[in-house]
Amino acid sequence: MPLEIVTVPCLADNYAFLAHDPASGDTALVDAPEAAPILAELKARGWRLSHVLLTHHHYDHVDGLGEILAGHGAQVIGAAADAARLPPLDRAVKPGDRLEIGGEPVEVLEVSGHTVGHVAYHMPRSRAVFTGDSLMALGCGRLFEGDAAQMWASLSRLAALPGDTLVCSGHEYTQANGRFAQTIEPENEDLAQRVRDIAEMRARGEPTVPSHLSLELATNPFLRAGVVQVQRNLGMKGADPAAVFAEIRARKDNF
Ligand code: ZN
Ligand code: FE
Repeated sequence: MPLEIVTVPCLADNYAFLAHDPASGDTALVDAPEAAPILAELKARGWRLSHVLLTHHHYDHVDGLGEILAGHGAQVIGAAADAARLPPLDRAVKPGDRLEIGGEPVEVLEVSGHTVGHVAYHMPRSRAVFTGDSLMALGCGRLFEGDAAQMWASLSRLAALPGDTLVCSGHEYTQANGRFAQTIEPENEDLAQRVRDIAEMRARGEPTVPSHLSLELATNPFLRAGVVQVQRNLGMKGADPAAVFAEIRARKDNF
């Protein structure tokens, strides 16, 4: 049975996620930006926290952990490559490793670029991937530690997952991302429609995260560096998609 996934808004514009297995009662938290909203959600649903999956070391993804663990004895899981700068891990994982939450398999994916050692957690049976600050709704994380080639490889890995996979990413940056995306693809009708949908969702106070991978593939410029129309718009027809991605990322940094 697929896990029940709940989005928990934290801080100003972060998201954490709870993934709950009704059969075993296990509940995994993905990232810990802030304790209070996460503890409140667990309490309201009567869920017992069993695992914490950390995507990367930035404070807005780990700072709530200590307070959460004070009331819940959960197993903390994060990347072995990042163990020195993550909170203490009970289990250090490597890309390619497999975990289980309840009976649900979880695959660890390498998604370096925003940071080096950043991982994503893919739950193939629940059709969800937890991407932190790698692939985001209509965007991707800034390249603080890795380079463009690394991020392009990471995004390509995520892009290869099934299209109906839910992309559970770490921030509500979608509206600003949409404004930028339209400078890259002003003629993309799917993007124009998504930008309108996002404006309505935000006006209603709804999160725009998570989103389906198929929608990201059709509208997220950072996944579309190999698309001929995008390359043409940038004057880079026939260029290596990694180079096109680097150009799009550089333009976003200066947007
Ligand atoms: Zn980050
Ligand atoms: Fe972040």
